[in-house]
Amino acid sequence: MKIAILKERASGETRVAATPETAKKFAALGLTVAVEAGAGVIASITDDAYAEAGVTLGNAAATVKDADIVLGIQAPDVALLKGAKPGAWVAALFDPFTNRAVVDAYAAAGFEALSMEFMPRITRAQSMDVLSSQSNLAGYKAVLAAADVYGRAFPMMMTAAGTVQAARAFIMGVGVAGLQAIATARRLGAQVSATDVRSATKEQIQSLGAKPIFVENVAGIEGEGSGGYATEMSEEYQKAQAELVSSHIAKQDIVITTALIPGRAAPRLITDAQIATMKPGSVIFDLAVAQGGNVEGSVPDQVVVKHGVNIIGFSNTPAHLPADASALFARNHYNFLSAFWDKEAGKPMLDEEIGGAIRLTQGGKVVNERLLGA
Ligand code: NAD
Repeated sequence: MKIAILKERASGETRVAATPETAKKFAALGLTVAVEAGAGVIASITDDAYAEAGVTLGNAAATVKDADIVLGIQAPDVALLKGAKPGAWVAALFDPFTNRAVVDAYAAAGFEALSMEFMPRITRAQSMDVLSSQSNLAGYKAVLAAADVYGRAFPMMMTAAGTVQAARAFIMGVGVAGLQAIATARRLGAQVSATDVRSATKEQIQSLGAKPIFVENVAGIEGEGSGGYATEMSEEYQKAQAELVSSHIAKQDIVITTALIPGRAAPRLITDAQIATMKPGSVIFDLAVAQGGNVEGSVPDQVVVKHGVNIIGFSNTPAHLPADASALFARNHYNFLSAFWDKEAGKPMLDEEIGGAIRLTQGGKVVNERLLGA
């Protein structure tokens, strides 16, 4: 069996889908690993480091030639896969709801597209969950990026020249990214508060030493929500949330928004009128900017100044930490394939629960229920 890893070609992508560490582990399973020359350079992995791990390096065509499995961060253009075995597996991010044409092209080419973002939120799949591994790093980076733009310090400092006040940071959306954002802002010395629609997050916020700010008069989502995810909230809830946010946000220096709803545009959490109540020099980092944005007026990869408030957000936040993001993504890939490794068959055999959830195309057709229903 041959496994192939191409250089990522999407604009702004810095990550690579295998590291020397995971390449060695794949080799130990009996796989041949091929990596396109230069694929790891931006993630600080040299071709020599891959070669030392037993990887074959070459151009794109040589890398995919006769491959049984192709691993990616973002799904490669189907044209690049010419020469891979018929029916080869391609495991990567497909962004299937947005990029339906790519999914259709994979079906037409006869490849089996495995969408890593469709990995179910079940305990045994946690180590394969790229959304979690990348969101965690994104939450950390969002706080650092906000701190960098903020013209003041985060921690309280008592100096001979007088006292510097601690920054107040508010985290909206306490999933994987939000929890890491709370922890990071706390470590930097900010006073942190946070909110979510899922009541289960209240305790998590408190356990990290932050203050929960919750809508109390309208019911939110009790517990975890389906598969851990939020859904769109009622109009009544949205109104109550807007009032709560309006009174809280005016006192904040830093706001990090992380709210997402799978398969939908990100919910709008902050309006222009609310931004106008904030202090000049405050910073909002919109982690959902690439999914439509939680914040009115946010633009990917730009610092937008509105009412003296800096609004920022990256189109691809994990790509700002190429080495760690690659290391974790590559381990997610390895954990996934090795969990299904069938020694006798000498290849991975997926089960229905996970295979059925992530498989987008098979036998020339789109087969995923979430896409067929859409
Ligand atoms: P996400 O990226 O889908 O959303 C981020 C957060 O925004 C969520 O907490 C969500 O509730 C919140 N949100 C949505 N709409 C909102 C609104 N209008 N206002 C405020 N907040 C809003 O979430 P995620 O980081 O992927 O994690 C969601 C849950 O899944 C968490 O409970 C997490 O622990 C769980 N999870 C479980 C597994 C597993 O068991 N394998 C893996 C990863 C995550």
